[in-house]
Amino acid sequence: MNEVDDVQTQSRPTIPIMKPWLGEEEAQAAAAAIASGWVAQGPRVAAFEEAMEVALQARHAIAVSSCTTALHLCMVVLDIHAGDEVVVPSLSFIATANAVRYVGGTPVFADVDPVTQNLTAETIEAVLSPATRAVVVVHQGGMPADLDEIHRLCDPRGVAVVEDAACAIGSTYRGSPIGGHSDLVALSFHPRKVITTGEGGMILTRREAWAERLKRLREHGMSVSAAARHESTTLVVEEYLETGYNFRMTDIQAAVGIVQLGRLGEIVRRRRELAARYQEGLASVPGIGVASDPPYGETNFQSFWVVLSSEFPLERNDLITFLMARGISPRRGIMASHLEPAYRGHPHLDLPVTEALTRRSLLLPLYHALSDDEQDRVIDGIREAAGLERP
Ligand SMILES: *Cc1c(COP(=O)(O)O)cnc(C)c1O
Repeated sequence: MNEVDDVQTQSRPTIPIMKPWLGEEEAQAAAAAIASGWVAQGPRVAAFEEAMEVALQARHAIAVSSCTTALHLCMVVLDIHAGDEVVVPSLSFIATANAVRYVGGTPVFADVDPVTQNLTAETIEAVLSPATRAVVVVHQGGMPADLDEIHRLCDPRGVAVVEDAACAIGSTYRGSPIGGHSDLVALSFHPRKVITTGEGGMILTRREAWAERLKRLREHGMSVSAAARHESTTLVVEEYLETGYNFRMTDIQAAVGIVQLGRLGEIVRRRRELAARYQEGLASVPGIGVASDPPYGETNFQSFWVVLSSEFPLERNDLITFLMARGISPRRGIMASHLEPAYRGHPHLDLPVTEALTRRSLLLPLYHALSDDEQDRVIDGIREAAGLERP
């Protein structure tokens, strides 16, 4: 611990960007899975999948080890390979673009809308080519993208729509949960997201044949799952039908996930309440734009972003430093993958909105257990940075 940390802990605890909300029930559920002796993918994974299908109104759910592996398998079932283009936002966690590279495809970066920070039919259309096979639409920070207009563009052209809903469990689009609007939707249960299993992910699909293939692909391409073989009273000899992977979730993780899913409604309700307090507390600060619901849906506010205009007296990094000196841990806004060394030299069109957003935005602390008083410290810090008196 350095001196600065020391001073902070003596006065007031640092407010982190995110804290998962895990309790005694999750601990007991994990303990019960361990006591059962079945710790790899088994009955609890199946139960978690069923519970997610019901909660998100999705036809088939396939649990996997992360959203990154979920996206990877989406590329495999779509049969993306060398020479195929897949449109992705650069303004996303880098795993979105990497998934396309895992199968030898070419990620093509499209720009985003300045308000929702998501792809739109217009930004996608600008980069479509005869080689475009799919689009990965990200619901950034939980903010739903406008799926109907994207399907209207892509469906008639035979361009598959994959939703990267890593952050969007509990968000809605035109009144129904994100998860049931496309043939492939990928979810994350990383602790930075809304509900967590430590690490973990899931694929939702409307197609039964894809569900079956995805279940095989996560388990080495096996014709019979290990769980089914275990339950059989007669000899079952499995076959390996294609080159698969080990992308399984464990039953210990799924046990935690089932409890977390039960808390989803309460978590989203509190996140939206905190977001409304931020919106109100920051409304009178000049030079600040804040995240808010789009007209066609509701975000779970997995991230609450603030975008600074030139009217704001500090640069983004200086505001982060200012807040950190007050024991508050914001984060820079959404990254731009095309600016990372991993994509140096990767060709792309101009991405002016992406570059402005990644340079000018930051994410504020927002988590279930954040108290009103703690949140007021964040709001007061920003008002102070803007040269305003406390209200
Ligand atoms: C977090 C995140 C991922 C990766 O999720 P993991 O479960 O950590 O692999 C992918 N895409 C987006 C948009 C994310 O926010």
